[in-house]
Amino acid sequence: MTVYRIGVLYGDGIGPEITKATVEVLEASANKAGGVEFDWVKLPMGWEGIEKHGDPIPQVTKDELKKTHGWLMGPHDSAAYPAQHQTNRNPSGELRHVFDLYSNIRPAKTMEGVQSVVGEADLVIVRENTEGYYCDRNMVIGVGEWQITPDVVVSAGVFTRKAVERIAHTAFKMAMQRRKKVTIVHKANVIKLGTGLFLKVCREVGEQYPEVAVDDFHIDAMTAHLVRRAYFFDVIVTENMFGDILSDLAGELVGSLGLAPSINTSEDQAMAQAAHGSAPDIAGKNIANPVGLMLSTVMLLDWLANRHEDRRLIEVARTMENGIFQALAEGAKTRDLGGAASTTEFTQAVVERIAR
Ligand code: NAD
Repeated sequence: MTVYRIGVLYGDGIGPEITKATVEVLEASANKAGGVEFDWVKLPMGWEGIEKHGDPIPQVTKDELKKTHGWLMGPHDSAAYPAQHQTNRNPSGELRHVFDLYSNIRPAKTMEGVQSVVGEADLVIVRENTEGYYCDRNMVIGVGEWQITPDVVVSAGVFTRKAVERIAHTAFKMAMQRRKKVTIVHKANVIKLGTGLFLKVCREVGEQYPEVAVDDFHIDAMTAHLVRRAYFFDVIVTENMFGDILSDLAGELVGSLGLAPSINTSEDQAMAQAAHGSAPDIAGKNIANPVGLMLSTVMLLDWLANRHEDRRLIEVARTMENGIFQALAEGAKTRDLGGAASTTEFTQAVVERIAR
């Protein structure tokens, strides 16, 4: 039997609650589907990393993650870390940088039993994850911001042909497996060189995929289009910060930010991570929605299945996904979805559906 080594980083705020719930549901799915075993490698991150190693993303965690097949990343409350940690990349930024996880895939899809505010939608945001306006990602040393005087700061956005080409290929290849439509989101009417290059290179790559229809929108107009006609979009490709913002909006439009999954990948490594943060306002209350991280983990299973050509992982993924969708469709819902289930009650409801 193949054993997959999976890193588990519980993180801060609601992180431990939703990560524990996710591991429980994944184990139930693996037991049900059979044939796959997971070796969990628990590693410090966030406040646990600061307390044990003086670093929210300690070297030991990075070293051990290199030996895993992939990992689950709980959210971090990086905005609350002490001042000495504010000058470094936050834990997810650091892992994306160290492992060159250049592709951040963030789907938003309406689900049975969940109230969408935009009707039917089934779209995927393909976010460039290594440069753009998240300036700390652009540097080998430093964070890409310079304080010239106490009242003057320069923050650098970076756009390179190489990074745009590879994310554009990710988007067009994905569109070929879906409805064959790519929307490029930029702001080339104002940031003419930077996002202009992003638009130009995406369009050039698109010429290699003649079956895929291409259009583009400015980021500001795009937020309105998304609310007005979410059903219209298939694959959306955009730079780092626009993608982060747009995907929170898309997640909330189809039900809740708490439902929004994501996976961060390079050619040979993957990190499952919900789109949302550590939600300090509801941490420790057992009311967080664990679906975002659960569905991120389903995406990790599909990625692993493809990379290791292991169909048994697809069975585990579908078992887990069906359990989540059935629980939602049959009314098990956390408070953000208008329900009354606690995190543990919802998790139990999913485990029961999986066992059926
Ligand atoms: P947030 O995503 O944590 O919370 C925004 C709102 O959504 C809050 O009202 C919260 O209660 C709600 N929410 C989020 N996830 C939910 C869930 N699973 N279930 C129910 N409700 C949920 O954003 P924020 O408040 O801007 O940031 C809080 C902290 O998280 C900050 O320190 C920030 O830096 C960090 N953060 C981390 C990540 C990450 O780990 N990848 C991403 C974004 C923000």
